[in-house]
Amino acid sequence: MGNTTNRKEHSPTAALTLEQLLSEIKQRRLILTFNQHGRVTLWTPKQSVPRSVRLAVRLHSLELYKRITRSDISTCVNPDLHRASWSYQTRRYGCDVCARLLKEVS
Ligand SMILES: [Zn+2]
Repeated sequence: MGNTTNRKEHSPTAALTLEQLLSEIKQRRLILTFNQHGRVTLWTPKQSVPRSVRLAVRLHSLELYKRITRSDISTCVNPDLHRASWSYQTRRYGCDVCARLLKEVS
């Protein structure tokens, strides 16, 4: 079989992991929204978002939904502003401001 190299190259079409997606969301300051069926989508008026990011949101929708609904700090909508309200709650960090916002919209 000749010269078969099985290198793991970063393919631009490979799906982003959840952690990669979360850091993209932070860097691009994207906003996640969700509907009553637990489907998470990006709310991005006038902002162009790479296809890979949109795909990853769809792929990780369920986990994102879980994190948003328990106000996990990894999905905090404004870490710079909310950091002072982060607190340790039953084995994880949660954002109190996001929790309050969540109650208002649900
Ligand atoms: Zn927050």
